[in-house]
Amino acid sequence: MRENEFRLGDTIDDYCKRCRLLMNHYIVSMVDGEVKKVRCQTCHHEHDFQHGQGGEKKKTSRKSLFDQVAANLPQISPPPKTIKPKKNQST
Ligand SMILES: [Zn+2]
Repeated sequence: MRENEFRLGDTIDDYCKRCRLLMNHYIVSMVDGEVKKVRCQTCHHEHDFQHGQGGEKKKTSRKSLFDQVAANLPQISPPPKTIKPKKNQST
C-alpha cells in the first residue's frame, strides 16, 4: 500500500474541483492508512481524496444527464434517403 507513506498533514497532489486543477492538498483525514479527505492548499476547499482524478466524474454525470434528456425527447427518425438521380439533365 503506497498510501501508507502518507500521514495527516502531509502534502499530496489531488484534483481540486474549485481550482479545477491538480493542486497541492493537505491530508486532513485518513482511514486504515488510506487518504480519505484532503484540503486544497490554494483555496482551502476540503473534499474527499480522489486520487488525482476529478474530471472524470463530471464527464460521466454530464453524459448520463444528456442521456436522460435524450431519452425523454421524442424519437426523431432520420429522413429517408431518397437520392434523386440527376439523369434528366437537359443539355
Ligand atoms: Zn482549490
